[in-house]
Amino acid sequence: MRETELKENLKSVETRVTEACKRAGRNRDEVTLIAVSKTKPVEDLQVIYDSGIRSFGENKVQELTAKIPEMPEDIDWHLIGHLQRNKVKYIVDKVKLIHSVDSYRLAEEINIQAKKKGIVVPILIEVNAANEASKFGVRVEEAKQLCTEISHLDGVHIMGLMTIAPNVVVAEENRAIFHKIKDLSVDIDKENIDNVDMRILSMGMTNDFEVAIEEGATHVRVGTAIFGERNYNI
Ligand SMILES: *Cc1c(COP(=O)(O)O)cnc(C)c1O
Repeated sequence: MRETELKENLKSVETRVTEACKRAGRNRDEVTLIAVSKTKPVEDLQVIYDSGIRSFGENKVQELTAKIPEMPEDIDWHLIGHLQRNKVKYIVDKVKLIHSVDSYRLAEEINIQAKKKGIVVPILIEVNAANEASKFGVRVEEAKQLCTEISHLDGVHIMGLMTIAPNVVVAEENRAIFHKIKDLSVDIDKENIDNVDMRILSMGMTNDFEVAIEEGATHVRVGTAIFGERNYNI
């Protein structure tokens, strides 16, 4: 049965998160498990919600805005995918955190829409840690500069960094990448830039979330291990 399968998947992910925290000498409550529900029906999300999860991640604005009214109101929605400037207005006041800010122009648009609504929008700077051509995000060397520029926009608040590590066979291969992003966040934190916090590190997915936790992730984004494989053809 689908419900049983989802609950068992979640339980096993929970156990793995807890074990990784233990290995790293961290408290379980230092790590937020974001259930990445893209392409999955709201019935699936509801099962995971009923099992106690309150943080959900989506990568498309349209899918996100369609699901929000179908689900309970106390969910923290995370926008984790690439965001186009013309879509910012649909989501600024609906999400807990935008993980994927990688340009000043995008931050500027978020700032404009935030001010229209009289809010401050929490964001992360997406870093392309391995400099992969296929990925969004700023280069490691550019991150501090971008934080400084965005810090002047008072309708947004930088809460930390996000990265999507390479798709590797063995999770261990990404340890150095996660370590590098943690170092970068400590480095930026030391600058004490006004309006910039480095308390969130969003890194780790199905294939590598345990290593990410060991290297300091505060938010892991887990899809497949909870909901199963995605089918993009339907
Ligand atoms: C899809 C997605 C995830 C989840 O990936 P899984 O490998 O299914 O856990 C995490 N982060 C981002 C940005 C994604 O787009």
